Amino acid sequence: MAVDFAMSPADRAFAEDLRAWLDEHLPAFLTAGDEDDDHASTAEHIQERRRAWQKLLDQGRWAAVHWPEEWGGRAATPMQRLLYAEIMAEKRVPGLYNTNGIWQIGPMLIQWGTDDQKRRWLPSILSGDEHWCQGFSEPDAGNDLANLRTTAVADGDTYVVNGTKIWISTAHLARWGLFLFRTDPTAITREAKHEGITAFVVDMHAPGVVTRPIRDISGDEMFNEVVFTDAVVDAANRLGGEGEGWMVAMGTLGFERVGIAGQITTLAADLRAMVETARAVNPGALDDPLMGDRLARAWTEIELCRLLVYRALSKVARGEKNWPEVPLAKLQWSQLAQSLSELAVDLLGPAGALGRGGPDAVDRGKWSRQYAFQRYSTIGGGSTEVQKNIIADRAIKLPGKARSS
Ligand SMILES: Cc1cc2nc3c(=O)[nH]c(=O)nc-3n(C[C@H](O)[C@H](O)[C@H](O)COP(=O)(O)OP(=O)(O)OC[C@H]3O[C@@H](n4cnc5c(N)ncnc54)[C@H](O)[C@@H]3O)c2cc1C
Repeated sequence: MAVDFAMSPADRAFAEDLRAWLDEHLPAFLTAGDEDDDHASTAEHIQERRRAWQKLLDQGRWAAVHWPEEWGGRAATPMQRLLYAEIMAEKRVPGLYNTNGIWQIGPMLIQWGTDDQKRRWLPSILSGDEHWCQGFSEPDAGNDLANLRTTAVADGDTYVVNGTKIWISTAHLARWGLFLFRTDPTAITREAKHEGITAFVVDMHAPGVVTRPIRDISGDEMFNEVVFTDAVVDAANRLGGEGEGWMVAMGTLGFERVGIAGQITTLAADLRAMVETARAVNPGALDDPLMGDRLARAWTEIELCRLLVYRALSKVARGEKNWPEVPLAKLQWSQLAQSLSELAVDLLGPAGALGRGGPDAVDRGKWSRQYAFQRYSTIGGGSTEVQKNIIADRAIKLPGKARSS
């Protein structure tokens, strides 16, 4: 199948403008950060730096390029989104303060929100004035999201919410959250579990909403359990109609799949960076032919994954579905991310295992943290086994019993 690498004049101008803006603003921002090196690794400091970076991007209208112009975006085309993801990754820019808000929740509000809801919430997502989280998963509803059981029972102009959400990233920092609740529990007994789900914007400071951080494998406390006990949510905070929650969520869960292109560029930059660090701390490893083999394999796989994303984009540009390239790229990226983090600690030798905070930590302990944290890549956003089942059933159409949930 033909892959179209051609850029239109508008795409080229978009990329040039972004590079010029970054060249003007990024170095000064990064230098200012180095001044307070003492605080560099505290969670609060990292979040404040992200907020400052997002505010700067917003001032240049570069924070949410895929949003419509009237809401502060640039109505970027799929090709421009891909260029954006690649250039931002290549320049190693800091993360956003409201990643979920910008990439997932904002587009949901734009597509499904009333004018009042858009006016009320979109500006604060964009500016980073208020943090947002996304609350879908539950103890018995992860890959099988439609099995969610947290209930929202209508009571006049409000809904009363009871249940537990889990693994909700940054909920402890969030002022608002976009949640899915079950407004019709009979849908489960009717075996129509995708029905009867409704999306709501939740005030995370409201009575009856309790957030408990969970420590992850790398030692950070960035995701949470969120428990609702008779929490009251205004009907005015419902996003879309009652029972439309599945559509609200699904329309946009796949919204920014080209984001994976940025993650692939990040992997390529990581590979270059780990080789540079190895030259300084463990140069002998670079003479090891087995290590050379792993490095070459990693580079080749990164390039293959990048081409897969380009093929998906070529299909989108022709008005076709980006299937099955997108689940294939997710699968390949997640495995690559893990094998690369294993390669890093092997390549760097004893220095690669030193953790964050220690005086001799290499690259501030980035590689040892990544080694542990990358276990998430084959779980979050749909786990490997389930992705493989979907590809086997729907793309390859392997004979046998349907496996995917
Ligand atoms: C770092 C991180 C951040 C996250 N942030 C958020 C967030 O902000 N908001 C949010 O809502 N969620 C979040 N999640 C949750 C994430 O979406 C879920 O972890 C994911 O959907 C998998 O669900 P689960 O953990 O319940 O695993 P399960 O679905 O219970 O799966 C457990 C195991 O069983 C396997 N399995 C399940 N079903 C099948 C099947 N049909 N066939 C074969 N094998 C199967 C899986 O592959 C897996 O190995 C986050 C997760 C992580 C790791």
